[in-house]
Amino acid sequence: MSCKFCSNNRTNPEWELDEEQVSYAMTIGTSEKGYRVMYNKVPYRPLEITFDVWREDLNPSQWLQVAGYFPKYCPECGRKIDEYDRSKFDNV
Ligand SMILES: [Zn+2]
Repeated sequence: MSCKFCSNNRTNPEWELDEEQVSYAMTIGTSEKGYRVMYNKVPYRPLEITFDVWREDLNPSQWLQVAGYFPKYCPECGRKIDEYDRSKFDNV
């Protein structure tokens, strides 16, 4: 059973057309000022943990992803995340 952090279109097929239920980004943990670690859920992709840096030099200033990781297990509920072909997502 998936939780709100690792659920996606494949664990809940009825969400197929509801992007709001499938998408979110949430800051987790602690980081130095100008950096952040996030849970990112995007439709048709497994849960991704991303590492971002605040770029004041860009116009407009914005968060920029500098690294990402698709965990094999959900960090919140421990469910094995195996509903996607990992070979398509492991090269981040
Ligand atoms: Zn979970």
